[in-house]
Amino acid sequence: MNKIITIKLKDKFKLTDFKRGEKHRVYVNMSENALSLPWQVPVIVIRGAKKGKILGLTAALHGDELNGISTIFKLIEEIDPTKLTGTLVLLPICNVPGYLSKTRHFSDNVDLNRIMPGSPTGSSSNQYAHMLTTKILSKFHCMLDLHTASYGRVNSLYIRADLDNEECRTLAYLQNPQIIVKKYDENGTLRSWANENGIPAITIEIGNPNAFQHSLIDETLEGILNTMRHFEMIDGEVKDMVANATVVDRSYWIYSSKGGIVDVMPNLTDHVKEGEVIAHIYDVFGSIKEKVRSDRSGIVIGRNVSPHCHAGSRLVHLGFDEIEPMPEEIPGNDEFDDL
Ligand SMILES: [Zn+2]
Repeated sequence: MNKIITIKLKDKFKLTDFKRGEKHRVYVNMSENALSLPWQVPVIVIRGAKKGKILGLTAALHGDELNGISTIFKLIEEIDPTKLTGTLVLLPICNVPGYLSKTRHFSDNVDLNRIMPGSPTGSSSNQYAHMLTTKILSKFHCMLDLHTASYGRVNSLYIRADLDNEECRTLAYLQNPQIIVKKYDENGTLRSWANENGIPAITIEIGNPNAFQHSLIDETLEGILNTMRHFEMIDGEVKDMVANATVVDRSYWIYSSKGGIVDVMPNLTDHVKEGEVIAHIYDVFGSIKEKVRSDRSGIVIGRNVSPHCHAGSRLVHLGFDEIEPMPEEIPGNDEFDDL
């Protein structure tokens, strides 16, 4: 028989209100929507029997990025609160309106991961972001923010982290990624806000949008458990898993210059060479009108999977080591892609 689980509603979110040694499920009130009701964010608090770190996990800040939800569900199953030291605060769905409409953005079409920490008197997305950061996320000692590629693209399992920050580097190296990209804190992201406020945070990009990919989810979960072992929240030996990852200094997108139908060749984690053809762009009669070549050697972090191609579409997200400056002629040399 299924155990009955009580789900409570909270206006205030105070960790000491939760009993130690138990798992708690609550909805926490955010700003109000057009029904005069607050948006309610689901939060799972696993408060360990013993005092320790408060580790926060956030997922679906972009409403169509779902692999993090399953990762959190598996983590809830895995953890015995009576044996846990410290507290896990888990937010499987940060962007409730975006999740309901299966879209990246908030209900006012704003990307929540560009406006953090929001503001108490701004637009609806700003007020929601403000409530989320002040009520819940500010209570974390450190944070893992779970994302995926954006619509029409796919990603490897990769980490974005400021590797010059020792705590963030440690967090990155505790995960189990295919690639780690050295990223400084992009303005307006959740990670940037957290790091500026003394909460070491990294972004984990888990594969593709609108899907559950269980092999990547399981690898992500292994990294999270490794992080918990490092913080002595659970027993067990900390594994050095970064040996299998490729660490790159920078990354950028290669764009199309023509419109048509695109076929991108390299697969995720493939190494491409400078000058290698990475995509064919066809006209609508089946003739190749552009062979897009890579301007440098690197590893494929993400790629386009949508054949529909306007000029200026993103084709391949390439990671590389910074031996020479970024070529200035690359359009939209964007640190911000899908995080
Ligand atoms: Zn995202």
